[in-house]
Amino acid sequence: MDELDWQQYAVETQAIRAGQHRTPEQEHSDPIFATSSYVFGSAAEAAARFTGQIPGNIYSRFTNPTVRAFEERLAVLEGGERCIAVASGMAAIAAVGFSLLKAGDHVVCSRGVFGNTTIFFQNFLAKFGVETSYVGLTDYAGWEQAIRPSTRFLFLETPSNPLTEIADVRRLADLAHAKGALLIVDNCFCTPALQRPLALGADIVIHSATKYLDGQGRCVGGAVVGGNELLDKTVYPYLRTVGPSMSPFNAWVFLKGMETLSLRMKAHCGNALELARWLERQPAVKRVHYPGLASHPQHELAQRQQAGGGGIVSFELAGGKDAAWKLIDSTRMLSITANLGDVKTTITHPATTTHGRLSPEDRANAGIADGLVRIAVGLENIDDIIGDLRRGLPE
Ligand SMILES: *Cc1c(COP(=O)(O)O)cnc(C)c1O
Repeated sequence: MDELDWQQYAVETQAIRAGQHRTPEQEHSDPIFATSSYVFGSAAEAAARFTGQIPGNIYSRFTNPTVRAFEERLAVLEGGERCIAVASGMAAIAAVGFSLLKAGDHVVCSRGVFGNTTIFFQNFLAKFGVETSYVGLTDYAGWEQAIRPSTRFLFLETPSNPLTEIADVRRLADLAHAKGALLIVDNCFCTPALQRPLALGADIVIHSATKYLDGQGRCVGGAVVGGNELLDKTVYPYLRTVGPSMSPFNAWVFLKGMETLSLRMKAHCGNALELARWLERQPAVKRVHYPGLASHPQHELAQRQQAGGGGIVSFELAGGKDAAWKLIDSTRMLSITANLGDVKTTITHPATTTHGRLSPEDRANAGIADGLVRIAVGLENIDDIIGDLRRGLPE
């Protein structure tokens, strides 16, 4: 059968079927190729594979059929020419940083990104002579002013963590391109089921597959998606040489996870919206951050740019840290953990966990109040999730 053109299919279908190439065994589910190397028919064939004259597997640091199935599926889902799978979301960010940048280059990064991303830019890239400037996610004048002739890329997450601010990806892509820079979007919170940054002009999409692509909290993995020309010269040789490779087993888990991605994301969005609306009605809650609420400052942009509000809801309790900790400690079912993107609902206090290493001033600047609680809404029955939270709220 001819290879189907998966771009002609809907996201639900792509997530289930793209990237699979059946072996002569006619297996229905994807096989796991647990092999580090591959044999060649002759010395000449080995030589031709190594030079790339004949395509094919060489060694699983950079060629493995199960990992390739994951890469092809995610590339189709994101509408990218190419995906390169790596060992974690941080490995994806490091791969982009180390392979695209050189000493003297400059990066502009939004202030609210994943904590380790900031540490990577500050503690690692800085050592190699790369400078990073930070701007508020929705401060467009700030982005523009921060760009220098040496700026290689702009880096952001949208929605942001934990305040769910939304950046206009198209606008920032235009801004970056006008100044000769690239736009990189970490699409971990929305996944391609809700948002496709490449179609909005971004050049590279980053994933932590650990989150919603797996969806059930089992494996750590990551990916870089973008154009062939760019990735062929940068991230691919980096993977081949440095080796932050995804294991075939993890790739298989992610393939299985992706089969239910659209269904899960719809359900995460449904539960999160219901929870956000309930929270807005609670007198002890000062403010709810959720892109699906009409009260969200970028609600309209979110409606245009995303196919749903996502699974992350955060809210501020009037009673500050004590009230936040009391609420968290009163839950019986919710998991107290900073992870997200799981079918299990998780609850965390950003000011003393994910953002605990920031100074009180930096925390205040980032809008992380002491009374802020973040919930990554899972797929349990929404009445049970609300019931677990009600217990810890003042009457
Ligand atoms: C978790 C996360 C990462 C890092 O991914 P790992 O798989 O944990 O290395 C990067 N970006 C965002 C937005 C994340 O939530």
